[in-house]
Amino acid sequence: MTDRSLNRRKFLQLAGLSTAALSIGITVPKLVGRTANGLVVESEEEYGGFLVEKMNAGKLPYRYDPQVLKAMNEKMTMFSRNVWDPARQKRPELTEDLFHENLIKGKGKVPNQTRLDYAFMAASWTVAGNRDYPSYKWDVQSGMIRMLQREVPQAWDPKDLDMSWEEASLAVKHAALFYGASLCGMAVLNPLWLYSHRYSPTRENKEQTIPILSESERLEQADDAWYIPKSMNRVIVLAFEEDYNAIANSPGRLASAATGNGYSRMAVTAFTLAEFIRGLGYRAIPAGNGVGLSIPMALDAGLGELGRNGLLVTPKYGPRVRLAKVITDMPLTVDAPISFGVTEFCKNCMVCAEQCPSGAIPKGDLTWKGKSPSNNHGVYKWYVEQEKCYDFNGFSCSSCKMTCPFNKPNNSWLHRLIRQVIRKRIGVADKIMVTLDKAGGYGRQVPASRFWKKSGRASITAREQA
Ligand code: SF4
Ligand code: SF4
Repeated sequence: MTDRSLNRRKFLQLAGLSTAALSIGITVPKLVGRTANGLVVESEEEYGGFLVEKMNAGKLPYRYDPQVLKAMNEKMTMFSRNVWDPARQKRPELTEDLFHENLIKGKGKVPNQTRLDYAFMAASWTVAGNRDYPSYKWDVQSGMIRMLQREVPQAWDPKDLDMSWEEASLAVKHAALFYGASLCGMAVLNPLWLYSHRYSPTRENKEQTIPILSESERLEQADDAWYIPKSMNRVIVLAFEEDYNAIANSPGRLASAATGNGYSRMAVTAFTLAEFIRGLGYRAIPAGNGVGLSIPMALDAGLGELGRNGLLVTPKYGPRVRLAKVITDMPLTVDAPISFGVTEFCKNCMVCAEQCPSGAIPKGDLTWKGKSPSNNHGVYKWYVEQEKCYDFNGFSCSSCKMTCPFNKPNNSWLHRLIRQVIRKRIGVADKIMVTLDKAGGYGRQVPASRFWKKSGRASITAREQA
């Protein structure tokens, strides 16, 4: 295994940058240079002004050990373990202060959180929480059934419209953004990122799982297994920006509203995009958290890099996104994985680990193995202790998004300055930026009242408030 991380000196040399020459301004998409790992590009529109290395074929922005890494059983995820694992049955009860109904009954416990906040939070989950609608919990099943019910028409050939497959893939991306995604990337589906088993508990058997098999052309949702055709070897990964000001209320109800809103938008967009692809005569399975691990798929699809906080960090929105995906056999042109210095920055920045209220984020180096049974070992990264996070989290904590210097929108001179320093990849400045960041009060919970004072602007994204 080789270290794929970018050499800073080489990067600066190729980009023609000087550490003293910090300029603040809007950038235009352009090719900046070339490294051993790929092309260096910058684009305000796509990458929020960061310098991004688009990696050559076969290169990845992470390292994994093929001898150790195995496809994960969905049964081992935190949400699943909370159902069947005896060790998880004694966890703190989180739900009583979370739900709107309880607040109305006078049981709301969180200080400074009002009925306005609770109603806002509860409503944001409406689509995601609707059993008749595809959502994070029922996504796979709904998506599979719908696919099986449909007769697939003859596959569309882009040549009919005098288009190349590159242009057709771009058209699918446009559709994804039109239907509601903030970012869209495409990758060859790595079977290692599919769950080995779907966790499918019954009343009689809380531990029941069903294998997910993708080694033949069989397409069936059978009792003994779910069969996904091998030819469904592309994944379209969709990222959904969460509202900056709502996340700033973490760990409060507004942050949960941002989460719920993300999940609801995921359901609408992924399901709609899958229908679009089926209309073109290809098969498509939409999924939120189901079917497989979204974060490594997003890394493969060039949407970002992995942070210390265990999350996808995108150039444009930082870790402030939710992820969904559509698996398909449409022969889409795939995107290059990217690197823009996150791993290197995280080595100097400890903010999320210091601010995490549960101590779930490690402060040490990257490792090959995590401490939690819900960690999937064999990737060289920072492993978050899932139990600690969940037991604090409920649905409301997004502090590891809120505190991250990459989270900031590109909408003020200070935010732009921070971006410019990060993007120049000046190691010594990383620590200074982190210090400035803390001094600026980033990382402290912003009261919900401040969000509501922007009355009538609550749905406007931070980017648009610039
Ligand atoms: S969601 Fe909150 S508790 Fe969980 S890792 Fe992030 S900061 Fe820590
Ligand atoms: S807060 Fe700092 S250490 Fe954590 S993910 Fe963001 S950049 Fe990395």
